[in-house]
Amino acid sequence: MNVAVLGAGTMGHGIAQVSAMADHDVTIRDVERALVDDGIAAIEENLRGGVERDKVTDDEMRAALDRVSGTTDLAEAVSDADLVVEAVPEDVDLKKQIFEDVEAEAPADAVIASNTSSLPVTEIVSALDDPGRGIGLHFFNPVHIMQLVEVVVGEQTDDETVAFATDFVEEIGKTAIEVRDTAGFASSRLGVALGVEAMRMVEEGVASPRDIDQSMELGYNHPMGPVELGDVVGLDVRLDILEHLREELGERFRPPQILRRKVRAGNLGKKTGEGFYVWEDGEIVGTSDDWGDEE
Ligand code: NAD
Repeated sequence: MNVAVLGAGTMGHGIAQVSAMADHDVTIRDVERALVDDGIAAIEENLRGGVERDKVTDDEMRAALDRVSGTTDLAEAVSDADLVVEAVPEDVDLKKQIFEDVEAEAPADAVIASNTSSLPVTEIVSALDDPGRGIGLHFFNPVHIMQLVEVVVGEQTDDETVAFATDFVEEIGKTAIEVRDTAGFASSRLGVALGVEAMRMVEEGVASPRDIDQSMELGYNHPMGPVELGDVVGLDVRLDILEHLREELGERFRPPQILRRKVRAGNLGKKTGEGFYVWEDGEIVGTSDDWGDEE
């Protein structure tokens, strides 16, 4: 199968890599040659790491790299594609424009997918004359490691398109879940629900961040507790997602004051050195003083 991946960034190069490893011919398109080359170099680096860890053989790596090519020309990328996956920045107008441009250049039966993590798939695919062939394929970062792909079904998406996308996901060795196009899909909605309740518990003084995290790590076998995960994702990112989910789904996603306060103070988690925890060199070294209910 020919797969075109639009955007050679974090997600695009990962999607290209797993597609090539599953024997597909892949063309990556980005807006500048240097970005295309960086994406291909990142694939090579990932695969070399896989060879070093005995996850991938040298032959598999070489064969996969042979199947990947890059271009800045959209028509060249998609004109023979069976599947197009866009992984350009999270901007609904940009994605709609890309869907429209792809439809003009791709074969009439190609499936066109968006890797959006939060935008309405129904709106993105509405840019197509034939919206039945548009769908969401929500991969997780890092793509070559994470097992889940959400197949996000827009209001207009055809059953055939859902079946094609699901088969593709299974065939590249991932697990597909089918989700109706609603805010937060399945994964973000549940993950954020747990995270927001954990922050409220910190705010109410139910337990310390570390003890709340351990309740999930040791009691439910989560690899990382919900408070720490918020720090890793970034508290500003968490706040934006909560605002969006609150607008779409209601007050149960209202951001807690403690989160707003931390974001206002610039304490965004791991990336700034403090969130609910204090971080040094990417490791937790303590708990932030601000985890009570006082201003
Ligand atoms: P990124 O910024 O790393 O990469 C985006 C790439 O798209 C850039 O290289 C940019 O030059 C390129 N681009 C911009 N306009 C383009 C165009 N017209 N044609 C082709 N390429 C173009 O972003 P990312 O983190 O890979 O995210 C991409 C998408 O995946 C977003 O919709 C994001 O919400 C979603 N997503 C991200 C993650 C994550 O953890 N990063 C996880 C799941 C989904």
